[in-house]
Amino acid sequence: MVPMNISLIQIIEQKDELLRQRWNSSVKALQSRIDLFQSDSAVFGEIHQLMISLISIVENKESAEQAVDAQLKPIVFRLRDLQSAYQLAAAEMVFLLFLMKDTLKEMMNDPSLAELYRENGHISSGEALKEASNLMNRLGLVFFENAMRLGDEDAGQQDVLAIEYALLYERTRQIAITDRLTGLYNFGYFLDRLKEEKMRAERYHRLLSLIIFDIDHFKKYNDANGHPAGNEVLKKIAEILKAEAREVDIVARYGGEEMVIILPETSRKRAAELADRIREKVASATFAKMESQPLKKVTLSAGVATYPVDAANEESLIKKADSSLYVAKSQGRNQVVSFEPATKVTVTYQPSKPVNKVALVGNFNNWDKDVDLMDRQEDGSFRFVISLEPGIYHYKFVLDDDEWVIDPSNSQKSYDGLGGDNNVLKVSA
Ligand code: GH3
Ligand code: MG
Ligand code: MG
Repeated sequence: MVPMNISLIQIIEQKDELLRQRWNSSVKALQSRIDLFQSDSAVFGEIHQLMISLISIVENKESAEQAVDAQLKPIVFRLRDLQSAYQLAAAEMVFLLFLMKDTLKEMMNDPSLAELYRENGHISSGEALKEASNLMNRLGLVFFENAMRLGDEDAGQQDVLAIEYALLYERTRQIAITDRLTGLYNFGYFLDRLKEEKMRAERYHRLLSLIIFDIDHFKKYNDANGHPAGNEVLKKIAEILKAEAREVDIVARYGGEEMVIILPETSRKRAAELADRIREKVASATFAKMESQPLKKVTLSAGVATYPVDAANEESLIKKADSSLYVAKSQGRNQVVSFEPATKVTVTYQPSKPVNKVALVGNFNNWDKDVDLMDRQEDGSFRFVISLEPGIYHYKFVLDDDEWVIDPSNSQKSYDGLGGDNNVLKVSA
């Protein structure tokens, strides 16, 4: 199991290899500017240390503003040393900070990291990311202002220009992934992230849920009140979605009046709960001219589906969420429908000693022992029937809430990289 009381710094140290991979792929994107860094393990080591320092500042939540400034100073000095040791232009320093920020963001989005954060009672990964990003921005400003200062020998006219390009690059990238009307991520970014998150869920044997929302009778609203009024409704709904989703969730505009949320590490049940909370919030919110709608209020329908229990890949996940949305519409709108796979699998457990309750946990319920309790049979065994799409799953049993055991009757095992051995459950059509 996950060791207790592990500090975030230890977690990040354990992530060394992952960090290095992200680092390498980020650097590749800016190859022409920063060839120098790619294979330099000394620079990598430095950056690694700096990120650990940043995280430890963030971890120390009580720090007053001035204390944070004081703690940032040594980092600035180290960055300056790095700059002069490698004779980096100020522009390259700004690039470097952007890369660090990206890397940090990637790390925070890592589902296994998010899990460790949760289990160790630290501030949420989203919160840490936000604060560390803020610190990173502040560091970027230090170098930017430094280079912009007139008479600074390190920053010639060329350099200032290059920094402007660097900032422009960051801004352009931001614009390229943002939907203009709602400020949510756009469809292209949604597809990229869904693919990425699916790969992560696959690698770590985790769940990934998708919610698709569609405004009910929106054509009526537009027809009655005009397109600009409709746009205001879209904006307000986008705000509600953003406010209700977690920092690690990805909220995007899927199409005209359809919005989606990608939820890493989230079971179908939890995703449906969030979708329903959002549905309720929207139904009880006040929108201009909402009397024009059939229910005299603006409402949403939503479809939920989860990888890998409902779908084997991201295309199919979208299809399943979409078909559930269609069911929600046909059942009368203003409701959330979760996909329900047709294949039923029976899992049994024969305890070798007396137990009161047995939970079935696995990547189909996000290893949550409070979700699927097994039924005790007359012969003392426990049984559970679960609906799963064909595929390969990983599971265990939890006896009386605290003892995690593998299935003695199943010799097929796999290691999940976090909690030791699991049994493999192959579901065929
Ligand atoms: P349903 O409950 O079945 O979803 O009914 P509906 O009228 O919402 O569905 P339909 O797909 O027929 O219509 C969607 C409408 O959404 C069409 C268009 O008027 C509106 N719409 C799509 N994109 C935008 C947008 O960017 N701004 C505005 N104002 N309206 C939009
Ligand atoms: Mg629609
Ligand atoms: Mg609609």
